[in-house]
Amino acid sequence: MIDGRTQLVGLIGWPIEHSLSPAMHNAAFSALGLNWRYVPLPVRSGQLGKAIDGLLGLGFRGANVTIPYKQAVIAFMDHLSHEAEEIGAVNTIVVQSNGSLIGHNTDSSGFIAALRSSKFDPLGKEVIVVGAGGAAHSVVHALLTAGVERLSVLSRTLDRAENLISSFSDARLHSERLSSEAIIKQAQRANLLVNATPVGMWPHVDGSIWPRDVPIPEQLTIFDLVYNPVETLLLKQARTAGARAISGLEMLVLQGAKALELWTGRSAPIQVMRSAMKYPAASGRCIKRLCEK
Ligand code: NAP
Repeated sequence: MIDGRTQLVGLIGWPIEHSLSPAMHNAAFSALGLNWRYVPLPVRSGQLGKAIDGLLGLGFRGANVTIPYKQAVIAFMDHLSHEAEEIGAVNTIVVQSNGSLIGHNTDSSGFIAALRSSKFDPLGKEVIVVGAGGAAHSVVHALLTAGVERLSVLSRTLDRAENLISSFSDARLHSERLSSEAIIKQAQRANLLVNATPVGMWPHVDGSIWPRDVPIPEQLTIFDLVYNPVETLLLKQARTAGARAISGLEMLVLQGAKALELWTGRSAPIQVMRSAMKYPAASGRCIKRLCEK
C-alpha cells in the first residue's frame, strides 16, 4: 500500500515507456517487504537539471539513469564512485541523508556478474567488443578490471573506438573498423565476443553483427547486450554453431540488483527480479509487452 511513509526511486531517461525496470524493482521491494516504489520519470531534452533538483525537492531516495542522460547527469553529481568516474557514465544515483548525490555505474558490475554466472572467467582471455558507445565503455572497463589479456574494440565509426581506447589508455586495448572480414579474423583467436550495439534489437530482429553464411567458431562465447528479443539472431547463430550464448537480460537483472542494494542496503531478491521480467529462459520469444507494441 502506498501511504505517507512510502519511499520513492525512479528511472530518468527518454523515452522510457517500454522500460522493464519498474516491474523488476517493484516486485523486489514487495518481496523484501519494503514500503518503496519505483516510478518512471520521463525527462524531456533540456530538463535534466530540473529533474535532478526535483529528486531532492521531492525526497526521492535515488534513481536510475538511462539513455540519453548517462553522461550528462555527471555534471549534477556531488560525488562519483570509482567505477562511474573511470567509465564516464552514471546509471544509478543515491541521494544521501544530507542531500548530497552520489553517481554510480552498475552496468559494469552487472555485465561481469552475468558473465561469471554463465561460468566464463575473463582472466587471461582474448575479447572482441563490437560497438563503442556508452555500454561498450562499461563493458571495456569491466573486462580490463577482470584481467583480460587482449581486448579489440570494433566499431563502424573508427573514431569512436579510438576515443574509447584513449579514454582508458591501456596497452591491452586495440581498435579496428567493424567489417565482416575484421570480425571473422579476430574471432579465430578470441574467447569472447560482446555485442554492444543495438543490432538485432526489436523491431530489427533479422540483424546480426555476425555474417550470415559463416559459422561462429565453437570456442567463442557470445554475449549479446541486446535483451529484446531475449534470443537474438546472434545468439541463435551461436547456439547453432555449438558456441556458448549469453543474453543481455541477465545483465539487466544484475545491474538492477546492484542498484537496489545501493539504495536500500538490502540483498536483492534476484530470482524475484528475474521472474518479474518474465525471464523466458532462452525460449527465443520477445518480451511480450515490448515486442507486440
Ligand atoms: P550508444 O551509446 O548509442 O552506442 C551504440 C553503438 O552501437 C555505437 O558504437 C554505434 O556505432 C553502434 N551501432 C549502432 N548501430 C549500428 C549498426 N547498425 N551497425 C554497427 N554498429 C552500430 O548505445 P549504448 O548505450 O552503448 O547501447 C548499446 C546496446 O546495448 C543497446 O542495444 C542497449 O539496449 C544495450 N544495453 C544493454 C544493457 C543491459 O543491461 N543488457 C545495458 C546497457 C545497454 P556508431 O558510433 O557508428 O553509430
